[in-house]
Amino acid sequence: MSPDALSYDAAARLVSKHAASLARNRPPIERVNLGHAAGRVLAHPLRADQDQPPFARSTRDGFACRAAEASTHEPLVVTGATKAGDPPCGPLLRHSAWEIMTGAPVPRGADAVMMLEHVEAADGRVQLLPPRTVATGENIVARAAQARKGAELLPAGTPIGAAHIALAAACGSATLEVFRKPRVAILATGDELVPVQKSPAPGQIRNSNAPMLAAMVAACGGEPWVLPIARDKAPALDSALAEAGDADLLLITGGVSAGKFDLVEPALARIGARFHFTAVRIQPGKPTVFGQLPPRTKFPGIRDHAKYNRNGTKCYFFGLPGNPVSSAVTFQLFAAPILCALAASRDPRPRFALARLAADVKAKPGLTRFLPAACTFAVPTPEVALVPWQGSGDIAAMARANCFLAVPEDAERLKAGSTVRILLV
Ligand code: AMP
Ligand code: MG
Repeated sequence: MSPDALSYDAAARLVSKHAASLARNRPPIERVNLGHAAGRVLAHPLRADQDQPPFARSTRDGFACRAAEASTHEPLVVTGATKAGDPPCGPLLRHSAWEIMTGAPVPRGADAVMMLEHVEAADGRVQLLPPRTVATGENIVARAAQARKGAELLPAGTPIGAAHIALAAACGSATLEVFRKPRVAILATGDELVPVQKSPAPGQIRNSNAPMLAAMVAACGGEPWVLPIARDKAPALDSALAEAGDADLLLITGGVSAGKFDLVEPALARIGARFHFTAVRIQPGKPTVFGQLPPRTKFPGIRDHAKYNRNGTKCYFFGLPGNPVSSAVTFQLFAAPILCALAASRDPRPRFALARLAADVKAKPGLTRFLPAACTFAVPTPEVALVPWQGSGDIAAMARANCFLAVPEDAERLKAGSTVRILLV
C-alpha cells in the first residue's frame, strides 16, 4: 500500500471539501415537462401559486358545525350539503349543521366537522353522539395551513422525485426548469476487456464496469458518456484521455494498482493532473485516485487543443480500481458526492444508515471495510447480514447485496446484535 494512503475519514473529508467548493456551481438551465422531471435537479425554488390548500377543506365525510354547539349534543338542523368540487358555501346559521364530504370546502361559519361515524342523523337533523365532543378545527385543514401564496415550497437544488412532481402539479407547473446534467466520461481500461456484445476469448472478460458506472452516474443525476475501452498502453491511454477532455467529470476504471500495466496515473500525470489522493486505507478500493485536470489540458499527440476541454474548468477525475465491487464502492463513497455537487443537487452522498448486525464480523485493523451486505429494512429494526462473497471481483454477490456494511478501521470485530453503519447504494 502506498505509504501516503489516507484514512477513509480523511479522504471523505477531502472529497467533501471539493464538493463544497462546487456549491456555487450553477450549471446551465433547461426546461422539461413534468413527465420528464424525475431524477432532475430543480433550478429555481418552487413557490406556491396560491394558498395551499386554497380553501378550508374537510378531511372527513360528516357534518360541518360549530364545535361548541355540537358538543352540547343538541340536535342541529341540516341546512345544506357540499361535496368535493362544489364552490365554498354558507354561511352556517346558528344551531345548524351542513352535510359535507371529504375534500369539500367547509361552509363559512363552521369551525369543525363531525365524522359521519360519530353522529346520528334523521329527519333533517343531526346530533353528535354523547359522550363524544368535537374540538374547534377538528377534521378541517385551514386555508393556507400548508403554505401561503408565494411561499417557497422547495429550494433550488432539490433532486426531483415523485412527491416533488405531485407538488409541482398541485402548483400548476406543467414544466420545470432544471439544471443541465453534468456529462460524465466513463473510461474502462484493460487489455483483457471486451465490449459486452463480444464473446471473450480465453483470458478475456467483458467490460461490466462501464455499464454499471453508467447506471450509477444516471442515478446521481449525471449524463453518462461511455468511451471505447482503452488498452494498457501509454498512447492508447493518452488518446482516450484526450477524447474525454470536455467532460464535466472523468471516471476511469482499472489500471490504478501497482502492477506493471497499471499506467493510468502516469498518463494523467503527463497531462498535468493534480492528485488529491492516490490511495485510501479502505477495502475494497485501496488504490483509488482522485484529482483534477488543469483548465486547458495539453494532450500529448493532439494538435487541436481548443477542440478539447471546452468548458475551461478544472475537470475532476477518479481512477477507480478495476475490480467491480471496488469500482462500485469507491464510486458511492467518493465520486457520487462530487457528481451531485456538479449537478448542483442537494442530494446528500454518500448515504449511510444504521442497522442491527445479524452475526459477528471480523475487522481488519487499519482498513475501513465496505462489505457487500443485505439489509432487511424491516420494522422495528433493520437487520443487516454479510452476503457471502469471493472477493472484490464477485459481481454476483454484489447483485445479491443491497448495501455495504461499513467496518471501522479501529474495530477488532463487530458483534452480533450491535448497531452498525451501512452504506446505501
Ligand atoms: P485493475 O484495477 O486494472 O488491476 O483490475 C483489477 C481486476 O478488475 C482485474 O481482474 C480486471 O480484469 C478487473 N477489471 C478491470 N476492469 C474491468 C471492467 N471494466 N469490467 C470488469 N472487470 C474489470
Ligand atoms: Mg488492468
